[in-house]
Amino acid sequence: MRDNPFISERLFCPGPTPVPLEVGLSTLRTNVYHRTDSFRQDVLECRRLLQVFFGSKEAPLILTSSGTGALEAALVNLTNPGDSVLVINGGKFGERWEKLAKAYGCQVNSYTIPWGSSPDSETLKETLRRTPCKAVFFQANETSTGVAYPVEELAAAVRSVSSALIAVDAVSGMIAHRIAMQDWDLDCVVSGSQKGFGIPPGLSFIGLSPRAWGGLSQRPKFYFDLARERAGQEKGEMAWTPATTLVLALLSSLKKLVEVGVEGCEAHHKRLAIACRHAMEAMGLQLFAQSHPSQALTAVSLPSSIDGSQLVKICRDAYGAIIAGGQDHLKGKIMRIAHLGMVDELDLLSGLSAFEMGLQRLGYRHTLGAGVGAAMQSLLRASPT
Ligand code: PLP
Repeated sequence: MRDNPFISERLFCPGPTPVPLEVGLSTLRTNVYHRTDSFRQDVLECRRLLQVFFGSKEAPLILTSSGTGALEAALVNLTNPGDSVLVINGGKFGERWEKLAKAYGCQVNSYTIPWGSSPDSETLKETLRRTPCKAVFFQANETSTGVAYPVEELAAAVRSVSSALIAVDAVSGMIAHRIAMQDWDLDCVVSGSQKGFGIPPGLSFIGLSPRAWGGLSQRPKFYFDLARERAGQEKGEMAWTPATTLVLALLSSLKKLVEVGVEGCEAHHKRLAIACRHAMEAMGLQLFAQSHPSQALTAVSLPSSIDGSQLVKICRDAYGAIIAGGQDHLKGKIMRIAHLGMVDELDLLSGLSAFEMGLQRLGYRHTLGAGVGAAMQSLLRASPT
């Protein structure tokens, strides 16, 4: 496919997401020194604009790492070895919190839910009453299953029974879903560049509450020493050499996103997500999410006659459409179609076209175009005025 000049690669996976041309062009400014007033101003402006999407009291920090780096920074700065922590584990990324907490010597308690389901506030409360914890870690959006957790509700449940810190991985949730750190009383929120922000991978973001800043861990830390990072970033100075080109891309992207606003971004993602769900239904397919389907991506179960790995390959090789399949035990069984970041109506419709044609090529019989048609109708019904 790569050698075929008539096929363009298009990203429909839940990260990396498409990078708009103007944003990509800003990464061409490669001869940038980071210890200058002009770059410091750019960092400060990025942090100020990021704060809008974090809904935080204080501007978030920018780290040069992928999203997992910021998860690690959260874990390392919020917990001490031996601390009892609770992780909600409903997929690949819940597992990641567990692995991180174990790697850093925490006592890990898990509230494990079947993949595709959403955590329940009452069970969360019961679990916390039984096992008091220093911190609770969960996702805003479990990317492996296409389930968006009810963050506000879960945070309220934690607060009603415990003084545990609440740390939320919003790597794929932010922008597609509103996150309101201060209003929802969250202590730590983490996100990443290559998802809703529509810039290439390599930056992550982390916001802490005054409560979290007041109780930072005592354990040794170096690259991800957030207190040190905060002291510098208050003046736009990053501790290490930052990915300068990505900071410039971030600024370009954030300027556009704030014009749309938090609610506008959420409304856009919701419209695309609903259209994608209608498409699946019209094709006779079932959502993998049993409740709370994500606005960042749609995970869909495949009939047993269809090999999802083949479908991923056909979409990619024949149409250039990069759609993600399932992970771990869901490999070959589900497909994950993203509508996250700088994706518009025609993008979604083209991804769905590839998906429908790929299914037919694998022998699935449905009225060709039914999915795309349903998505078009849904988008028209919900057109912004
Ligand atoms: N958390 C979630 C919910 C994600 O979707 C991802 C990436 O897909 C990560 C964490 C890890 O981010 P990264 O791959 O940038 O390290």
